[in-house]
Amino acid sequence: MKVTEHLERANGKTLFSFEVLPPRKGENIKNLFSNIEPLMEFKPPFIDVTYHREEYAYRKRPGGLLEKVTVRKRPGTVGICAAIKNRFDVDTVPHLICGGFSKEETENALIDLHFLGIDNVLALRGDPIKTESHFVPDPNGHAYASDLIAQVACMNKGHYLDEEQEDSFATDFCIGTAGYPEKHFEAPNYGADMRYLKQKVERGANYIVTQMFFDNEQFFAFEKKCRAAGINVPIIPGLKPMTTKSQLTMLPRTFYLNIPEALAEAVHDAPDNAAARDIGIEWCINQSKELMAHGVPCLHYYSMGKAESIRRVAAALF
Ligand code: FAD
Repeated sequence: MKVTEHLERANGKTLFSFEVLPPRKGENIKNLFSNIEPLMEFKPPFIDVTYHREEYAYRKRPGGLLEKVTVRKRPGTVGICAAIKNRFDVDTVPHLICGGFSKEETENALIDLHFLGIDNVLALRGDPIKTESHFVPDPNGHAYASDLIAQVACMNKGHYLDEEQEDSFATDFCIGTAGYPEKHFEAPNYGADMRYLKQKVERGANYIVTQMFFDNEQFFAFEKKCRAAGINVPIIPGLKPMTTKSQLTMLPRTFYLNIPEALAEAVHDAPDNAAARDIGIEWCINQSKELMAHGVPCLHYYSMGKAESIRRVAAALF
C-alpha cells in the first residue's frame, strides 16, 4: 500500500515509521531482521531502506601503478526491501538516488520494484562521493531529484524511455521527496530551496520527509513556509535521538543542522555516553510528543543502524 494511503487511513492518528540501512556487504540479513523485530510491536505501516552509492578507491598494483576500483559497502536495497516486506508483511520504501545511475538503470530498478509489489519510492539526488568536491551526475543520469521524480511520474503514466506503453503497463508508485527545515546546505538561500521543493511536488512527489532536526521550531516554520508556498502534500518530520557525545559535532558536520544549546550543553556535560544517550532519548521523546500534539501524520526515525534507542523512544509514545 502507498505511504499516502497509510496516512489517510490513520485518520489523524500519528503513525510510527523508521529507516534502516542495508547490511554491509557479506553480512547476514538476520542481523538486520533482529534490529527490526523489536520495533515491529509499534506497528510501523512502512519501513524505509536507504541506498548507499559506490565509492572509488585506489589500490596499488604490483609494479606500483595505482588502479581505480569501485567499492560498494552496502548494496542490495531492492532485494532487502522485498525481504523485509515478505518477512514482516510491512510496506517498504526503497530510497532511489540520481548519483551513479543512468536513466536506463533507474528505469530497470523501478521495473524490478514494480514486479516485487513495492508501491513506494523515496526519490533523492544523493550526496557527492568522497572523491568529488560537488555532486556530479551520471553522464546519462539526473542532476536533481526533481528530474528523477519526473521519470517516476512518467512511468506512472505508462511512458518509458524508449517507448510509450499501453496504460495497463503504467506503474503506480507513491513518490516521496526530501525537505530541509534548516535549508539544504547547497541552496543559496531558503527561498530558492523552497522553490525547488515546490518543483519536486509539482513534478509528482506525493509526500515530504524532512531531514532530522532537534528544534521543533525549525519544523513548524518550515511547514508554515511550505503551506504558504502552496505545497500541500503531507510533511513527515524525521527525527533521531542523539546517542553519543561525539554526535554533537558529527551530526552538524554531516547533516548541516543546529543542535539547540540546552541539548548540546546537557550532552556535553554528561559523564559518559550512556548518560548522553539517556539525555538524547529524553529530548527526542519530548520533541515527538510536541509534534504529535501538533498533529503530524507520522514520525519517522533515523536508526542509522542502531534500533535500541528508537525502541526506547517509541515505547514512550506508541
Ligand atoms: P535535490 O532536491 O535535487 O536538491 C539538491 C540541491 O540542489 C538543493 O540545494 C536544492 O535547493 C538544489 N536544487 C534542486 N533543484 C534544482 C534546480 N533545478 N536547479 C538548481 N538547484 C536545484 N542520500 C543517499 O545517498 N541515500 C539515501 O538513502 C538518502 N536518504 C535520505 C533520506 C532523507 C529523508 C533525506 C532528507 C536525505 C537523504 N539522503 C540520502 C541525502 C540526500 O541525498 C542529500 O541531502 C542530497 O544532498 C540532496 O538530495 P535531494 O533529494 O534533497 O536533492
